[in-house]
Amino acid sequence: MRLSQSQKISLLIVFSLSLLAWSLYSLAGRGGDASVLTEEGKRMIKKIVKTEEEWKSLLTAKQYRVLRQKGTERAFTGTYNDHYEPGLYACAACGNPLFSSEMKYDHGTGWPSFTDVVWPGAVELFEDRSFMMNRTEGRCAACGSQLGHVFDDGPPPTGRHYCINPVSLGFKPAGKEADAALGIKAETATFAAGCFWGVEDNFRRAPGVLSTEAGYTGGKTKNPTYKQVCSDKTGHAEAVRVVFDPARVSYEELVRLFFKLHDPTQLNRQGPDFGTQYRSIVFTHGRDQDETARRVKSELERSGAFGSPIVTEIVPAPEFYPAEEEHQQYLEKKRRRTGVDSGGCGTAF
Ligand SMILES: [Zn+2]
Repeated sequence: MRLSQSQKISLLIVFSLSLLAWSLYSLAGRGGDASVLTEEGKRMIKKIVKTEEEWKSLLTAKQYRVLRQKGTERAFTGTYNDHYEPGLYACAACGNPLFSSEMKYDHGTGWPSFTDVVWPGAVELFEDRSFMMNRTEGRCAACGSQLGHVFDDGPPPTGRHYCINPVSLGFKPAGKEADAALGIKAETATFAAGCFWGVEDNFRRAPGVLSTEAGYTGGKTKNPTYKQVCSDKTGHAEAVRVVFDPARVSYEELVRLFFKLHDPTQLNRQGPDFGTQYRSIVFTHGRDQDETARRVKSELERSGAFGSPIVTEIVPAPEFYPAEEEHQQYLEKKRRRTGVDSGGCGTAF
């Protein structure tokens, strides 16, 4: 097909205008004037506004370059790439909670990667057309600092891949400080329902449970070992301490889960495990927990759900002694090691 002179001129004009439009669009993106892509599910957030001079005085030179000037840290050089301690990652500029260690994974890119944010709206997304690429930039929703980029090549369940500059992050180990940063008023519950491996595993996977710990309580021996407790001479029960967010799961729901997890009609045994260390007890923290546990127990008794009388004791929680490290998240570690999902209890350790 041959084009006439006028057709050639028209084509040239269209091409030149397209190029101009594309250049202007790229420049706009680079100038940080891009639009917010998503705003759904945001919680109330206090916006933090500071002058660039103030940010400069608060941040290190490297932090300032990445957070405020859209710099990128070199891959495999930052602090949090190979970091898997349980806890909370917050914005290094303003402390806004961003990611939980539970959402962290290794994408192999050399930057810390997360599948999701710790609360909806923690990170705001913007189009980024710099460097002739079409990417999505993630900024802290509170202070607007650049954190990194967000891609759609992450693992399930979200498929998201938050690829974050480590220098943009601060870390708070799991515990009171991390909970306070998230506005969580965590509470503690303690249960004994037989071998603590399975009990701990079940509570750990319940929604609203923040952390669990296997341990010994209810006896006399101070700082007992697993071996001592297994001898049935310490008076301790194998127990699990559950730290939970009462806004997401109630104590009553945990008590009901406790009764579901074991047979509360068996005295000093659970299945193949015999001895007082396997007795069924709710160790209560305060009067409210005591009343709730008694109410649920008598309701279940009246309903005849178990066929025989419930032998579960309900007593105030005495000192709790955490079990040895090898007993913490025992079944989860075993699953990871062997790929087999086994009950694990009732066997010699
Ligand atoms: Zn921030």
